[in-house]
Amino acid sequence: MTTYPKVQNYIGGKFVADALTTMEVHSPIDGTKISDLPLSSRSELDQAVAAAEAAFPAWSQMPIKERVQIFFRYRELLIKHRDELAEIVHRENGKTMGESYAEVDKSVELTEFACSMPQLVLGEVMEVSKGVECRTERSPLGVVAFVSPFNFPNMVPHWTVPNALVLGNCMILKPSELVPLSAYRMAELLTEAGLPDGVFNVVNGAREIVEAMCDHPDIKALAFVGSTRVAKIVYRRATSNLKRCVALGGAKNHLLVLPDAHTEMTASNVVASMSGCAGQRCMAAAAMVGVGEIDHIIAKMVEEGKKVVPGQNLGSVISKDAVERIERYIAEAEQAGAKVLLDGRGTVVPGSEGGYYVGPTIIDHVTPDMAIAVEEVFGPVIVIMRAKNIDEAINIENGSNYGNAAAVFTQSGGMARYVQEHASAGMIGVNIGVPVPREPFSFGGWNESKFGVCDITGKSSIEFWTQIKKTTTKWNPEARTNWMS
Ligand code: NAD
Repeated sequence: MTTYPKVQNYIGGKFVADALTTMEVHSPIDGTKISDLPLSSRSELDQAVAAAEAAFPAWSQMPIKERVQIFFRYRELLIKHRDELAEIVHRENGKTMGESYAEVDKSVELTEFACSMPQLVLGEVMEVSKGVECRTERSPLGVVAFVSPFNFPNMVPHWTVPNALVLGNCMILKPSELVPLSAYRMAELLTEAGLPDGVFNVVNGAREIVEAMCDHPDIKALAFVGSTRVAKIVYRRATSNLKRCVALGGAKNHLLVLPDAHTEMTASNVVASMSGCAGQRCMAAAAMVGVGEIDHIIAKMVEEGKKVVPGQNLGSVISKDAVERIERYIAEAEQAGAKVLLDGRGTVVPGSEGGYYVGPTIIDHVTPDMAIAVEEVFGPVIVIMRAKNIDEAINIENGSNYGNAAAVFTQSGGMARYVQEHASAGMIGVNIGVPVPREPFSFGGWNESKFGVCDITGKSSIEFWTQIKKTTTKWNPEARTNWMS
C-alpha cells in the first residue's frame, strides 16, 4: 500500500512541521498505516486565526473578479491532478476508484459554482425617496471555520472552502482526523493556484480543535458537517458564543416504493443508493417503505444486490468499529424477527484481509420500532418496512428524527406530488435514489439533519458566508427633506 508523507498543518501559507503529538492514519482498504497526522492544540488554532486575520484586509478588499481568477486556476489543477486526487480518496476513505473519481469531479463542479459568484452577488440600488438612494452590498464575515467528516474527504471541504473564500472570507479547515490527506493536498494546490498566504489554513486534530473553534472570539462563523450527536454539541457551543453556525448532521433517508413503480429502475436505483460509498453517504437510502404489494421489486433488489461485490464495486467502510456496529444492528434486527434476505456480515476480501468490509445487506419485515429502522447505521444496509397505504408510509417517514432526504418510486405523478408535499425532509427524490441538488441549488436537510438557517452549498451559502451592508445616500441639497431623508 502506498504511504504518504506525514500530514502537516498549513498556517499562514506554510506547512508547519511542529513536533506535536501524532496519530496514525490507516487505510480501511487493508488496515495498513499510510501516514501520520498532528493532533493540534489550541495554540495551533490561535496561530491559524492570527494568520487568517492578517490576510483578511487585503483579501477582502481585492475585487471579487480578481479573487475568482485564483479559483479558475485551482479548477484546472483539480482536473490536472484528478487521478492522484482520486487515488488519495480511495486510499484514505476506502471507497472504490470510480466513486473517488466522482467525488473529485463533484469538487470541480463546486469550484465552478464558486467561480460564478461575481454573477450572483450583485448588490441592489433604488431611489427610496426623492434624491435619496439606498444600496446594498454583501460583505464577507472575516475569519470563518469549517469542520468536515470522514465520508467525503475531498468533496465536502469543497462545499464550503471555494464559496467562503471567493466571497472574501479567510478560513480555517479542520478535516476529519480519519482522512486528512485530501485536505493536505488541497492546501498545496490552492497555494499553487496563487492563493495569498493566510487566506486558507488547515489545522489537524480532533475534538479539542473543534471545541476551540466554537469558543474562539475571532472566528465569526462556523460550518460543520458530521453526525447529529456532534452537530448538536457544535451548534449549541458555537451559537452560545454568539457565532453564526450551520451544522449538518446525520440521516435516515426513507424511500417510499409504490406497487406501480418501474421494477428494474427502482431496484437498481435503491440498491445503488444503499450500497454506493458502502452506505456511508448522508444521502444513502436506509429505510424503504413498501406500500402494498411490492414483493416483485424486492426480489429484483436482491438480484441487483448480488451484483455488488465487496472489493470490486463495493468499497470498505471506514473502520473495524464501523464493521462491528453495522453487524450488531443486523444481528439485533434478525433476533427481533426481521428477515435478512441478503447478508453482508463476515465479509473478507481476498488480498485485503485486514480491510473493513460489509457486503450489501437487505432486511425485510423490519418494524418501525426496531433500532435498525430508527438509528443511522451508516453501512451498505437497507431495511424494508411495509405499509398498507401511502398515509401510513408517510407517517413512518415523518416519525424519523432526521430529515435529510426522502424519495418516492412510482409512475403516478399525483402520488409523487403527494409524497413531495408531505415528506418531512429537505431533499426529495422522485424515482431518484440519491436526490442531491446540484449547483446552483443548495444542499441541506431538515429536522435533526441540519441545525441553523442556511443550507451549506449553492445560492444559500451566499447568505451564510456574507453580511449585508445597507447604505443610504443623498447628494442633492435641493431635494425636499421629509421623514425618510
Ligand atoms: P463525526 O460527527 O464523528 O465527526 C465529524 C467531525 O467532528 C470530525 O472532524 C471530528 O473530528 C469532529 N468531532 C468528533 N467528535 C467530536 C466532539 N465530541 N466534539 C467536537 N468535534 C467532534 O462524523 P463522521 O463519523 O466523521 O461522519 C459521518 C457522519 O457525518 C454521519 O452521521 C453522516 O450522516 C454525517 N454526514 C452528514 C452530511 C450532511 O450533509 N448532512 C454529509 C456528510 C456526512
